[in-house]
Amino acid sequence: MVTVATTLRGTPVVPGLAHAPALVARAGVDSDAVARFGTGDFADGDAALAAYDAAVDQVAGGFEAKAGVAHGAAAEVLTASAGLARDKGLRGAVAKAVRSDGDLLAAVHAAVDQFVSIFTGMGGLMAERATDLRDIERRLVARIVGVPEPGAPAPVAPSVLVAEDLAPADTAGLDPALVVALVTEKGGPTSHTAIIARQLAIPCVVGTAGVLDVGDGTPLLVDGVAGTVELDPDPERAEAAVAADRAAREAQASWTGTGATADGTSVKLLANVADGPSAASSADAPVEGVGLFRTELCFLNRTEEPGVDEQAAIYADVLRPFAGRYVVVRTLDAGSDKPITFATHEGEENPALGVRGLRLSFDNPGLLERQLDAVAAAAAETGTETWVMAPMVATVAEAASFAEAVRERGLKAGVMVEVPSSALLAERVLEVVDFLSIGTNDLTQYTMAADRMATDLAHLTDPWQPAVLHLVAMTARAGRAAGKPVGVCGEAAADPLLACVLVGLGIGSLSMAAAAVRAVGAQLGTVTDEACRAAADAALAASDPMAARDAVRVALAG
Ligand code: PEP
Ligand code: MG
Repeated sequence: MVTVATTLRGTPVVPGLAHAPALVARAGVDSDAVARFGTGDFADGDAALAAYDAAVDQVAGGFEAKAGVAHGAAAEVLTASAGLARDKGLRGAVAKAVRSDGDLLAAVHAAVDQFVSIFTGMGGLMAERATDLRDIERRLVARIVGVPEPGAPAPVAPSVLVAEDLAPADTAGLDPALVVALVTEKGGPTSHTAIIARQLAIPCVVGTAGVLDVGDGTPLLVDGVAGTVELDPDPERAEAAVAADRAAREAQASWTGTGATADGTSVKLLANVADGPSAASSADAPVEGVGLFRTELCFLNRTEEPGVDEQAAIYADVLRPFAGRYVVVRTLDAGSDKPITFATHEGEENPALGVRGLRLSFDNPGLLERQLDAVAAAAAETGTETWVMAPMVATVAEAASFAEAVRERGLKAGVMVEVPSSALLAERVLEVVDFLSIGTNDLTQYTMAADRMATDLAHLTDPWQPAVLHLVAMTARAGRAAGKPVGVCGEAAADPLLACVLVGLGIGSLSMAAAAVRAVGAQLGTVTDEACRAAADAALAASDPMAARDAVRVALAG
């Protein structure tokens, strides 16, 4: 009998192959249990509120327990979720509703609705907290009616975790020995699921239509490079493919070279860093420097702008580990998805298209001046070669005045190419700056008119979109003609296959999370310049990202 394997396709975000049974996350609370519970039959509003408080303790306690064993961003997100579950304003809204009609589940729902609409109205990161609130609501309802909390079940054997999308509480504390891959129906390359999968280095495919129809326990072969999820694959073939992939990955993990193609064309590999600790740990990776220091990430929790001396000390901690190499410092990219209390404009209708990045200096030039003074002081103190670039530059005039301010301080000046206008005018922008760095995350968002945070638009917020690659090609061509460096520092640089395309388009440096460097370096070492150029032509000619990936694989194999 011939079995025809069914293969689903999505957007690949973390490379690697995994073969294991599906473990499907429960999306909601058992509806029979909710129906049986009804209005709960409480003696009075206070009794109902006591049941709410008990549920809050269980839900928040669960988050806190997970936070205790998680690290870094995951621990922070879980602690924030615990705080949100215990929020006094939310409790006040529940108390008011339950005292008026005694129906606790309806009261919880109404209170959460009220907070969700407030958060959504605030936009940016706050809007994302709406997803967390909905997750908290489902957990509270489950506790109140006395059934297990929904979300990712704890695996007991190696499994592929399948879900609509994953909440922070589902992904934090995941054990990569038991969850060998993640597949979601929604979510884009910058979604929470993708970020956690990248951190854990487990294969991940997002935006996979139809995956929720897969039955629990169905064997899956997940390919985090091709973006495929094969149902019921031939077990021997699948195991052999996983073993070969593991061997290739082990070889990659020991890569220590300087970035270059097989025929010796140099490609600078650089690290993306957020602060002193991440710079210190990235300095051990095989990188020639830092291609993107996201300075705003040092100030997410600050309500007041730090003084020049304090800023200089913070920047020096990033520059110091890279003495003898070089660091590209990006000035504050506050606003939109990264609100900073002391810089962001409040209440914008459409913050992604609003006053963010360099635009904040238009009516507050002192903010940029003080930051440049601090960067210059840190550069002088550490002796590290320091380049400075601005985010969200849209015109040649903006680039020129930024470059002047940077050069006045004796530093090398560049701008990011994130807005299509600056790619289209790259030749003229390069007349006024020393280098360009392409931010493919935002360049994709603005080229495709698709919010990079939208969970339903993964096929559009994909840097493999041929339109985005054409803008990258234009920018790289302008750099070659001007004899000035052009690099990529968005997530695209961390994708080994796309890295070959970028090199084929003429990009000279790739900056990425340090954890991604070895895989990219190893991959580049296996391909010739000619193969990269053929891959680039194939990607530019493709009709969509999936076709582009397929065509590039063929071009690189040939
Ligand atoms: C980008 O947009 O690609 C980029 C590197 O900047 P950020 O992701 O910080 O917006
Ligand atoms: Mg950006």
